[in-house]
Amino acid sequence: MKRIFTSETVSKIDETVKVAGWINARRDMGKVKFFDLRDKDGLLQVVVAPGDVEAEFEAISEDIRPEWVVEFEGVVKARGAKQINDKLATGTVELLAKKISVLNKAKTPPFELDKDTSGIGEDNRLKYRYLDLRSERMAKNIRARHAVFQEMRKLLGNQGFIEVETPVLTKGTPEGAREYLVPARLHPGKFYVLPQAPQQFKQLLMTAGIERYYQMAKCFRDEDQRGDRQPEFTQMDFEMSFVEEQDVMAVIEEMMIKVVETLYPEKKIQQVPFPRITYKEAMEKYGVDRPDLRKDKNDPNELAFCWVVDFPFFEKDEAGNWTFTHNPFSASKPEFHQDVLEKKNIENIIAAQYDIVLNGFEIGGGSIRNHQPEALKAVLEIIGFNEEQIQNQFGHMLEAFEFGAPPHGGLALGMDRIMAILQNEPNIREVMAFPKDGNARDLMMDVPSELPAKALKEANIKLDV
Ligand code: ASP
Repeated sequence: MKRIFTSETVSKIDETVKVAGWINARRDMGKVKFFDLRDKDGLLQVVVAPGDVEAEFEAISEDIRPEWVVEFEGVVKARGAKQINDKLATGTVELLAKKISVLNKAKTPPFELDKDTSGIGEDNRLKYRYLDLRSERMAKNIRARHAVFQEMRKLLGNQGFIEVETPVLTKGTPEGAREYLVPARLHPGKFYVLPQAPQQFKQLLMTAGIERYYQMAKCFRDEDQRGDRQPEFTQMDFEMSFVEEQDVMAVIEEMMIKVVETLYPEKKIQQVPFPRITYKEAMEKYGVDRPDLRKDKNDPNELAFCWVVDFPFFEKDEAGNWTFTHNPFSASKPEFHQDVLEKKNIENIIAAQYDIVLNGFEIGGGSIRNHQPEALKAVLEIIGFNEEQIQNQFGHMLEAFEFGAPPHGGLALGMDRIMAILQNEPNIREVMAFPKDGNARDLMMDVPSELPAKALKEANIKLDV
């Protein structure tokens, strides 16, 4: 007999079916035993009663413990009106077991999985993440994440965006974060780096004529672990050609509204269209560039989006030199274009750059880019790059733009943060399947870890620790 999912039992009353999964809980009522069987769809109550279960299987049911993997064959029965359990999707039925087969035993888990695990020590949850993910809340978070990704892919696909994968072994870019280095065994002394964002590739895809790109992209940043950061995280990275700021913002705004309406109908977006605030206003009025515009910060269903626009392009770094505020590829607003080319009035140049903010968190940002090589070069000169550095680090971009790059712009959304807010979770680790801990370690896989001397030698590495 083919195994069905627990969710399918509700339409199979009085039919004989086979279900399988994990024992979520067991209750003994005299000679009758009740098991909550858990599969990917949820729980089903299974009743093992003497007389109903075939004699040879009766003894097995004595042994079965939580988290054992068990298969039951039996008849789906409608529950009497008083027995209906509204909390379960299968609460109108139960399975009267005839046959039982233990597919695997399980040790007692280090924490209870039939309860919310948010109060359990996080080291334990991360070490046994595969168990934590069995708990209802965590399983829901992972599935909700999938649903949001699917919905975004669908909405973008409907508008002619295509998903293109870009390399993970690549070249460094100054986008503000330290990068992870990967030694190139075949090229002693040389390195790849892991991308902090697919920024350059998406711009090269625009140069390649793709016009509408997106990618659910893994990004890597080797930063000191502060607060709610992760060394690797996921962006919905996005770029389009022949557009201005409002075109990019419109696509993202429409997409976010549809995602919320479709998947989170209980939530309400405070203001549509999303309010737009200049960086200057935000700083003057709220003292931050990511204002929390919620009316009731205790209402878990309130979503207050806003755009923050008109960022200064440049700021002084600690040493008093000009640096970019966001990324070096941004264009200025058209009215400052000449200032960029002439490298004057630097402190007043406004970038064609926008951040999207939700409930006080920056959930994404982007810009219109400099698609003309001379403008990109001028920006790099303003931030102090000499000709050699420009050629070494950005020669390939400048060259590409000389072959007819279209005007283009885009944005990247921080998917982990978005999911944490939509799922009402306090941090992004709750919506990631396998996050690192606060010290950038994976406690389950036990990495980072030492490597055998042979592996280091092959990678031309001598340790200096
Ligand atoms: N690459 C940028 C970032 O990671 C986003 C963008 O400008 O599209 O912040």
